[in-house]
Amino acid sequence: MSKVVIIGGGASGLMAAYSASRNKNNTVILLEKNGECGKKLNICGKGRGNITNIADTKDFILAFGQNGKFLYSVFSQFSNNDLINLLNENGLQTIVERGGRVFPKSEIARDVTALFINQIKDVVNIKYGVQASGLFALDNIIKGVKVKGGIIKCDKVIIATGGKSYPKTGSTGDGYTFAKSVGHNISKISPSICPILCYDEWIKEVAGLSLKNVELSFYCKDKLIKSEFGEMLFTHTGISGPIVLTVSKYISEIEDYKNINLSLDLKPALSRGDLYKKLTNEFKSNIIIKNYFNTILPKSLAKIFPQLCNLNPDKKVNIITKEEKYQIIDSIKKLSFSFKSLAPIEEAIVTKGGVDIKEINPKTMESKIVKGLYFCGECIDIDAKTGGYNLQAAFSTGYVAGKLAE
Ligand SMILES: Cc1cc2nc3c(=O)[nH]c(=O)nc-3n(C[C@H](O)[C@H](O)[C@H](O)COP(=O)(O)OP(=O)(O)OC[C@H]3O[C@@H](n4cnc5c(N)ncnc54)[C@H](O)[C@@H]3O)c2cc1C
Repeated sequence: MSKVVIIGGGASGLMAAYSASRNKNNTVILLEKNGECGKKLNICGKGRGNITNIADTKDFILAFGQNGKFLYSVFSQFSNNDLINLLNENGLQTIVERGGRVFPKSEIARDVTALFINQIKDVVNIKYGVQASGLFALDNIIKGVKVKGGIIKCDKVIIATGGKSYPKTGSTGDGYTFAKSVGHNISKISPSICPILCYDEWIKEVAGLSLKNVELSFYCKDKLIKSEFGEMLFTHTGISGPIVLTVSKYISEIEDYKNINLSLDLKPALSRGDLYKKLTNEFKSNIIIKNYFNTILPKSLAKIFPQLCNLNPDKKVNIITKEEKYQIIDSIKKLSFSFKSLAPIEEAIVTKGGVDIKEINPKTMESKIVKGLYFCGECIDIDAKTGGYNLQAAFSTGYVAGKLAE
């Protein structure tokens, strides 16, 4: 018989509470500092909740990059199929979209939170508005959780406090402080899956413009690291949108930002040769170049495109030279951005870094330092690309932590 306190009622904490409460010998308390559980889960996938992915285990592990192997055992104990079955069996149907992304059929992420609350409400003591302030451990054995006005004594504690991004949802990095206080190392915290900030002043002039069917490439020391095809968006400070968020995950893995180059292919379906032929054909008329760009590019981009190609906007296309044609082709196929940094962690979808995985038993999620202390979700040093992988990791680690195995 164990008395368990779970700190945090996000995706991982809700699942840990579900898993722990299945053992009728456990008394389970869930502390959530907000007035409701799952604030972040509710806004996932723009409120539609990309809860997992149908990728196989190998691709799942790869999606997490360097630390992915840590999750092998966890995914074998509770996989994407297990999550989908659990949801389906409890009345929440799912759909699969582009790239294997899985969503609730209702397209309402909040339904997932509601399902878990419904599952645990009669068997778990959910304490809303209660913030844990620290851990109580003696001789490296967990004894309780500090809260305002005292200590909740218990035999097991699961830290499910999330990362540091989107702090308004409640994830303010408290778990890192708790883990550190009992001897855990926290690997460097930084943003991942986030907008990219650029120095280029011209970007401000196209802020709000979104582009479809373009390809963003990220180079480090002139070596291509990642190309991503799809949609993106210009902001007042840089670039964002699906392909930018994906590429940012790869940038977050680079130590030194000095050698980063980003370039955009505005017409990936056309080769340079195709474009040369197209321009040669279409440059027979006597329209001026800025008007020509209006025919092949969105208006706001067309307006500044002569400047990006170093061309006089009023020059007639029929006197454009061969060299100038190549300048245009370069700008269309390799429009470069001057990388400044990733956006601040507050704007990131996930936090990179966290509780050092070397100090957590990958089979149980128990701390290797403090007996009876478990971790799950984003507070652990694991983060994946977009596609539902991060939520699956939160659910899988939550499920395994909730088993409270030693
Ligand atoms: C805008 C956005 C969209 C996203 N979309 C997706 C998506 O579609 N698919 C996907 O896979 N991932 C997505 N993610 C990432 C995903 O939401 C997270 O990885 C996941 O929610 C992490 O779950 P968690 O349980 O570890 O942490 P969280 O969901 O952050 O939950 C932590 C909980 O702990 C509580 N808490 C913290 N400290 C304390 C304390 N001291 N005492 C009591 N309670 C505390 C917090 O209030 C919070 O409720 C998205 C993230 C964002 C920000």
